[in-house]
Amino acid sequence: MISKIIEEAKVQQAKKLIEKSQKIIIVSHMSPDGDAVGSSLAMYHFLLELEKDVQVILPDAFPDFLNWLNASGDILLYDRYPQYAEEAFDAADLILCMDFNSHHRVGENLKQLLEKSSAKKILIDHHLDPDETFDVSISYPSMCATAEVAFRLICRMGYFEEINRNCAEAIYTAMMTDTGRFSYNSDSPEIYYIIAELIKKGVNKDEIHRRVYQNESLDRMRLRGYIIYEKMKVIPTLQCAIITLTEDEMLHFNCQKGDTEGLVNIPLDIKNVNCSVLFKEDRQAGKIKISFRSIGSIAVNELSNKYFNGGGHKNAAGGSWYASMEEAVELFKKVLPDYM
Ligand code: 5GP
Ligand code: MN
Repeated sequence: MISKIIEEAKVQQAKKLIEKSQKIIIVSHMSPDGDAVGSSLAMYHFLLELEKDVQVILPDAFPDFLNWLNASGDILLYDRYPQYAEEAFDAADLILCMDFNSHHRVGENLKQLLEKSSAKKILIDHHLDPDETFDVSISYPSMCATAEVAFRLICRMGYFEEINRNCAEAIYTAMMTDTGRFSYNSDSPEIYYIIAELIKKGVNKDEIHRRVYQNESLDRMRLRGYIIYEKMKVIPTLQCAIITLTEDEMLHFNCQKGDTEGLVNIPLDIKNVNCSVLFKEDRQAGKIKISFRSIGSIAVNELSNKYFNGGGHKNAAGGSWYASMEEAVELFKKVLPDYM
């Protein structure tokens, strides 16, 4: 048995809302990652079992390495089909908000739809400091992935039997990707109890590992080589590594959506590197998108929140910078010692 972490009152509130709703929308954050897509599809497959009319809506495209997930092709991308998304919002009586803690994380357009909708909203998440705008907030930062929260919620609502193989695969994929293949945030023994249950549901974990990680394009592998050889700057006194990536460089390697995901983790494999940052140019958005990773006590979410308009988890955070790459790098080098 796993312990009861989600408060009983919240379980009952969520159950009541789900049972009485017929048209349900599931939304997640911009640049959806494995947990955003996995936790959303997990709830999608679960709600289909309950014979609900359900639609997953994501702000923009998700990486290719997730497109084998069952029903990933049924996900509605707002940036391609805004009209359909708006119609779905108009009709919805319940919205599940997966893997984000604040409305702005879904992007300006979806945020407006979310805020003007009269549907009830349930937050299912594991980020710190959620907004207080949800009707039911099921947010547990101690959990390794939003999909873990989703699994626990489904079980606590009494629907373990309704977790089918498609749902289980989506949950497993989300937990695997959000913990870097169970290499961080994954010390809780109960995670492995959950995995055992998912495998009993038909998940082939070796196959999923292959599909997600041994699925790299030649361009992307060469991009990794380029970054390691040419772009990664290690600063031994700060025990950190910094990578900068311009749009021209991404173009040169024919970068597709999601191709830069995980690059920031590479330097952490170096002995005595405890912090890694990737600064990535985004000309269209007029900003530098930043990914932070750390090992141990360095709270990169606090650093990002204070200096780079961002946040996230203690050891994995993101942010944005609205001036030059050089200034961002300089500021980072200056403030990092305060967090070491
Ligand atoms: P990534 O580096 O993979 O984009 O993001 C790492 C973590 O930081 C994710 O859990 C993500 O939710 C969070 N994160 C990324 N960008 C932002 C941001 O701009 N604001 C906040 N609050 N969190 C972010
Ligand atoms: Mn997550």
